[in-house]
Amino acid sequence: MRTISTVADIREVINTEKQNGKTVGFVATMGNLHAGHISLVTQMREQADIVITSIFINPLQFSPTEDFDSYPKTLDRDLEKLQTAGNDFVFTPSLKEIYPDQKSSKTLVNVAALDGILCGKSRPEHLTGVATIVAKLFNIITPDYAIFGLKDYQQYMVIKQMAADLCMPVKVIGAPIIRAENGLALSSRNGYLSTAELEVAPRLNQVLNYVKQTIIDGETDFREIEKQTLMIINESGFKADYFEIRTQENLKVATNTDHKLAIFVAAYLGKTRLIDNVRFELDAK
Ligand code: AMP
Repeated sequence: MRTISTVADIREVINTEKQNGKTVGFVATMGNLHAGHISLVTQMREQADIVITSIFINPLQFSPTEDFDSYPKTLDRDLEKLQTAGNDFVFTPSLKEIYPDQKSSKTLVNVAALDGILCGKSRPEHLTGVATIVAKLFNIITPDYAIFGLKDYQQYMVIKQMAADLCMPVKVIGAPIIRAENGLALSSRNGYLSTAELEVAPRLNQVLNYVKQTIIDGETDFREIEKQTLMIINESGFKADYFEIRTQENLKVATNTDHKLAIFVAAYLGKTRLIDNVRFELDAK
């Protein structure tokens, strides 16, 4: 495995691989890697000849009040995990390499149709920051395949839409959510949770599964479910941001005539913001 830090060097390596007829698979991360990230590398390993993982903490997707400066950095451990997973190249650019203007970009990519809802509502610059960095990384890496975790389902949809709308020749793949045994979705931010908070955190996934089951069992008033569940989440020790039942295909507010559903939740536990979702299909009546 090779670690490369400049755009010029990674381009050179990729050109050589492509000239040799190899397909390129890409995994974008911000480091502090856990089994969720590694599952993306493993899945990409099966799909592409060469796997490239980037580790870059993207300032554009953090608001000034968020944890950009304190975001966990564990490069040595990350490299060990990637090596074990069979990753080929790690791209670890500096901030200056990616944003010569420091933490800003004169060009921004905004997938307007999927922004302003869910995480885009409470974190207004977040998805634009994500789409902009992923567009830049796609232009640098020119991957045949790129894989994103369905834990960040809205992010996955935004990237898929961006690639389609901007004619980017990459196949965007969604990967299942990797969870702890207690159901908690793995996240780099789980490291911020205290022992007491770690006991409460899995409740978020339990609530999602409970609501999914009530809908499968025939509950049809989705707006009432959302209202009641927000109260339950807050009573469980979280400060809920949103709990919403939407359609899987386009993230529209779902009604009881929709079949492919997704339930999304975001909630603070202390200062830590957690997100999770479940997706399921109702049998056609
Ligand atoms: P991040 O480092 O948080 O930007 O995440 C990098 C990639 O890993 C994104 O595509 C995430 O959706 C994905 N990811 C993070 N946590 C998980 C998880 N628990 N299961 C599957 N994918 C994940």
